[in-house]
Amino acid sequence: LNHPFEEATAIIEELEIHGHQAYFVGGCVRDLLLNRSIGDIDIATSAKPQAVQEIFQKVIPVGIDHGTVIVRHNKQSYEVTTFRIDGSYSDKRHPDDVQFIQTIDQDLKRRDFTINALAMDKDGSIIDLFNGRDDIKHKLIRTVGNGYERFTEDALRIIRALRFSSQLGFVIEDKTLDNIKQVQHQIKDLAVERIANEIVKLFAGDFVNLGIDYLKQTNVYKHLPIMIEYPYIVERIPAPIKPLHSFAEIIALFHHVESEVSIQEWIRQWKCSNKTRIEALQLADALTYYRKYGLDNWLVYSLHHDYYNGFIRLQNLLLPCPSKISRHEIDSIEDQLCIQTKKDLALDGNDIHQLFPNTKKGPWVGHLLDRIEKEVVFDNVTNEKLMIKEWINWNPPEID
Ligand code: ATP
Ligand code: MG
Repeated sequence: LNHPFEEATAIIEELEIHGHQAYFVGGCVRDLLLNRSIGDIDIATSAKPQAVQEIFQKVIPVGIDHGTVIVRHNKQSYEVTTFRIDGSYSDKRHPDDVQFIQTIDQDLKRRDFTINALAMDKDGSIIDLFNGRDDIKHKLIRTVGNGYERFTEDALRIIRALRFSSQLGFVIEDKTLDNIKQVQHQIKDLAVERIANEIVKLFAGDFVNLGIDYLKQTNVYKHLPIMIEYPYIVERIPAPIKPLHSFAEIIALFHHVESEVSIQEWIRQWKCSNKTRIEALQLADALTYYRKYGLDNWLVYSLHHDYYNGFIRLQNLLLPCPSKISRHEIDSIEDQLCIQTKKDLALDGNDIHQLFPNTKKGPWVGHLLDRIEKEVVFDNVTNEKLMIKEWINWNPPEID
């Protein structure tokens, strides 16, 4: 076994010493067989959550009701989940009740796709009850059991099918695809946060264009927030695209192709975090600015350093090949900026007041500072008190 698994074997051994069964399960086994880099290592066990908590010193009980305990070992986290059968998903978020069981077979049966329903013991032997290995070999996404029933149980699996095709470059098996088309209207009842999680992964996949093709071909997008009302925006995104790294990048792209839907509206309907809101606004502003003025000091000055790469990714999707922007180009503009923020200006509001002793305070001070900021950023004025005062002499403010 390779390195991440070797480390995790200690956990399986510890559970076995205490008389329980334990296996690696799900995505990590799939990715091992695919020779992909391994994300999280998940472990399934016959031990009840209480027992897992007693066996290990460092545990975080994240989802005791659903049987999940995080075990910390050598600075790594492992999700250890008790073998279980899920009840129905009447709230479309979590199964209503879960039943803990003693064998792994039923636990594998509750999983979404054959490629995700694999278990492996500590010696590397694989339990494959649904021919997941064949499907991996043939690059196929197929539900475990009857697709119609499985998608009806939890419609999120529909979006998951598309995101796995985008991550792995796999084709969705014909029957599974038919079932997606039959059940997709139920997507509207899902918690939007769950959908968003999967959509981020879909747009980040190495085979994102395959994922987007499925999104269009199945009409699944017509059941997603905003795209329900503006279905044509999906057709408008450029093709092919390259993987995007955040939900904010996705929003900025859609906003760019249809500005009628504001960033605020995207944030509201998709219940995004404030962090996503800020990032999406910054990216959208930069794209709009670029469309008008191209790459210049002001664009680089206004855009937060953390979003340079996102901006480049998006802008380059929209630009024809020879005119693509490079990180180097942006960095060298940044290096030459005289100020980083407005606070770096050699002159502030008080200084301006002293220049105009008999005037009232008012918005004109801010407006003047805005103009000075722009002049300094564009290197039209040196950032020194005297030079700025001189500039003000020639460009007097309109005092209101
Ligand atoms: P990734 O590498 O992107 O994390 P993953 O396969 O580990 O992929 P997760 O969302 O982390 O995907 O889920 C872990 C496992 O739990 C899956 O492999 C699958 O077996 C099971 N699973 C997760 N969500 C569902 C679901 N909605 N219905 C059925 N099984 C699920
Ligand atoms: Mg995972």
